[in-house]
Amino acid sequence: MSIFKDKTIIITGAAMGLGLAASKAVALKGANLSIVDYNAEALEKAKAEIQSLAPTAKIITIVADVSDEQAVKNYVDKTVEEFGGIDGFYNNAGIEGKQAPLVDYDINVFKKVIDINLMGVYYGLKYVIPVMQKQGGGKIVNVASVGGIRGVVNQMPYVASKHAVSGMTKNAAIEYGKDGIYTNAIAPGAILTPMVAEAFKQVNPADPKAAETTYAQRNPTRKLGKPEDVGNLVAFLLSDECQYVNGQTIAIDGGESNLY
Ligand code: NAD
Repeated sequence: MSIFKDKTIIITGAAMGLGLAASKAVALKGANLSIVDYNAEALEKAKAEIQSLAPTAKIITIVADVSDEQAVKNYVDKTVEEFGGIDGFYNNAGIEGKQAPLVDYDINVFKKVIDINLMGVYYGLKYVIPVMQKQGGGKIVNVASVGGIRGVVNQMPYVASKHAVSGMTKNAAIEYGKDGIYTNAIAPGAILTPMVAEAFKQVNPADPKAAETTYAQRNPTRKLGKPEDVGNLVAFLLSDECQYVNGQTIAIDGGESNLY
């Protein structure tokens, strides 16, 4: 199946977790890929992994920290230089920060979470949208979270940044829908990636597996999501099969965000 034949997709935070899963999903469907991450070594490993699944996919790697505006401009410019345009953008890179009560939260960690999760997503929009405007359209998927829909205990800056992602998604949608640019966000619940494994370690350092089991029991489906589940949703939202969806934050969380 090659629904992304001759299409170019940028994916940030592509070295592992949700970014890697989405990279595999779109590469298997024929996309040219520009994969971006600040972990150079893991990014090269990810490229090899994707390439072994999709040997004919054209893939470039770009090492960039998404909280650095010049580095973001650079990954956009390099992608256009290499492939001539950008059809889809998965604006995914993000961090959780450290878990702590609001009054005790380390202000430097707070600022870092905002720099990456909020400003990093904004810079991506700022430099990708003009390319898509020139081409006459494109698809953007930002990554919010269940924490972009409701509060999460001890994760104040993460929740603030992810509510902001949902807000920026609405604004990009209403400002650039006229240009054929469709911007949506996804709000994953707990999906078992390295980031979430680290969160379970913080909740129960002695027994992270017990924290995982307890968390899963609270979910309506009694399980955690898989990165591939999210990769498939992202591939759909970035494809031509998805039309007239704009400015939405779509939960992929087993129904968790409906619980009190
Ligand atoms: P992860 O830690 O497993 O992977 C994140 C990737 O992003 C890593 O490769 C990391 O090197 C990269 N990255 C982080 N900061 C970066 C930066 N400043 N510049 C460039 N690359 C950077 O995390 P994940 O679970 O795959 O999360 C991906 C996104 O999904 C994040 O925005 C996260 O907040 C969001 N999310 C994840 C879950 C989940 O359950 N896993 C739930 C809700 C939202």
